[in-house]
Amino acid sequence: MRALVIGAGITGPVTAMALQKAGIDATIHEAYERTADGVGAYLNLATNGLAALRLLGIDHRDLGGFDTPALELRNASGRRLAHLAMSRDDAAGTVSQTVRRSDLYVRLRDEAVRRGIPVEYGRRLVDAVPHRGAVLATFADGGTAEGDLLVGADGLHSRTRAILDPHCPPPRYTGLLNTGGYASGVSVDTPVGLFTMIFGRRAFFAYANRGPGDVWWFANVPRARAASDDELAAYTPDRWRAELERLFADDAGPALEIIAATPEIIAPWNTLDLPTVPVWHRGPIGLVGDAAHGISPTSGQGASLAIEDGVLLARLLRDHGDPVAAFAAFEAARRRRVEKLIAQAKRTSNQKIPNPLTRLLRDRLILPLVSRAAARTTHDWLTDYRISWDPPAGSHPARR
Ligand SMILES: Cc1cc2nc3c(=O)[nH]c(=O)nc-3n(C[C@H](O)[C@H](O)[C@H](O)COP(=O)(O)OP(=O)(O)OC[C@H]3O[C@@H](n4cnc5c(N)ncnc54)[C@H](O)[C@@H]3O)c2cc1C
Repeated sequence: MRALVIGAGITGPVTAMALQKAGIDATIHEAYERTADGVGAYLNLATNGLAALRLLGIDHRDLGGFDTPALELRNASGRRLAHLAMSRDDAAGTVSQTVRRSDLYVRLRDEAVRRGIPVEYGRRLVDAVPHRGAVLATFADGGTAEGDLLVGADGLHSRTRAILDPHCPPPRYTGLLNTGGYASGVSVDTPVGLFTMIFGRRAFFAYANRGPGDVWWFANVPRARAASDDELAAYTPDRWRAELERLFADDAGPALEIIAATPEIIAPWNTLDLPTVPVWHRGPIGLVGDAAHGISPTSGQGASLAIEDGVLLARLLRDHGDPVAAFAAFEAARRRRVEKLIAQAKRTSNQKIPNPLTRLLRDRLILPLVSRAAARTTHDWLTDYRISWDPPAGSHPARR
């Protein structure tokens, strides 16, 4: 089988490497000349995602991130509401990693190239149609490519998704603007690796101590409706910095010092998700990663789910030997898990939108309960989840 993988973000290179492990040739087609998307922001990789990467022989120490084993929640007055362990896998010696998105992109893509997987840049998919029992893809540059299957790993605004279902609802605005940055030369009173998250009076602020003077942070700013491109552009760097200083002026904690120690604040963007995508596949064309299930960064799981997807889809293609059956099995295995998590992330996002009554309930009731429940839980459905590379018991060897 030959696969066309659309997108060289996180899911694309992971899927292509997993397909190679399954004995399937893949070529990655990326719209941009180089993947520059997401430069600036960083993300969390949980143990479920790290375990899936390990199946491909990729070690968490090669990703350029740092250990973030715990998080603490505080309210606007500085009171500690909860202390939670982030995901850990003692058997593998890993804990959650915090890594720059751009570093992760580059490392995954370079590793795919090192393994001999072709990446074609400047190849923006515009159409894909069944063609003589296979798929014919057409790109904006007028070129075409043919494969036995096409995997749409083209992100939240996926063209593949629109090809499969022109009526698919667009991504949903979750009520928050996102921003962040990297501060240096600032001292904070939290241990290295601890993520401290503050439900402020007007907005949400989170920071992680990465080492002496080095602090990575993000902020979520409630906004009733999504900002237009013009409104986002109107937030010049100086205006945006002043706005953040105003928002956090009355909260306990080091937000103002951290913002002041950040040379360049990442410009704000609308936080979006995709609660449900009706059509995940048709014939030999299917979706993976954000294209199938965009999730807000609040979850800390978008990249980990994307990695799980790529590895599982490749295994199912190997097991079924047929793209149509493999895409159907993939949807059956994945939809419930990812949609449950997207809904959970949306509820968490809502907690970041302050209103006096919900704030009281959250601080007095919900978060202490969550914290106690988390301390008692030994098995976590989310981060203890592991993709198996072994074929299911009883499957026919010829189909392995
Ligand atoms: C700022 C930010 C912070 C985040 N924080 C977290 C976090 O803490 N934890 C976490 O797990 N996740 C986080 N996420 C989400 C995570 O980045 C995504 O879930 C993950 O990148 C999904 O990977 P993907 O490969 O499916 O999509 P993407 O990374 O979006 O990659 C899609 C690729 O497809 C290419 N492409 C698009 N259209 C076409 C086309 N027509 N033809 C060819 N190529 C195309 C794009 O150029 C891109 O390279 C965050 C996201 C953002 C934006």
